[in-house]
Amino acid sequence: MDNCIFCMIIDGKIPSRRVYEDENCIAMLDINPATPGHTLILPREHRKDLSEMDEELAGKLMMAARRIGMLQKERLGAVGFNVIQNNGEAAGQTVPHFHIHVIPRYENGPMLGGWVPTEPSGDELDEVLAKML
Ligand code: 5GP
Ligand code: ZN
Repeated sequence: MDNCIFCMIIDGKIPSRRVYEDENCIAMLDINPATPGHTLILPREHRKDLSEMDEELAGKLMMAARRIGMLQKERLGAVGFNVIQNNGEAAGQTVPHFHIHVIPRYENGPMLGGWVPTEPSGDELDEVLAKML
């Protein structure tokens, strides 16, 4: 897709540090990593976000994320990894080409931002549940 930075990377018009690639996806180092080895998995075909992904492709990319997470543990000494995927600007998506973040976590590594847990009542949880069923 024109004007998509990740499509340009996939087409080789912009350089990237590729960790892994196959017929469905590429995995490359994030240029602004949360921790060393932070990797992005992206489909070769342009998809805006998860809503445009089909089951087969999503499954293949998730298995690529698994492969990268295990590689981070084996080669980088990570003791865990986060798999994060943002959909829409409100969710923090800054590049509108689907991608999965695989972020290696190290002993004594940095704290990464997350959500602040809330404490809804049972009634409030039931109200949300009723809307979702
Ligand atoms: P998002 O916020 O959309 O979930 O994540 C986008 C990620 O893409 C960010 O972590 C950002 O650092 C990374 N990124 C943006 N532009 C480039 C680029 O040109 N090359 C690489 N390798 N990563 C990029
Ligand atoms: Zn794209």
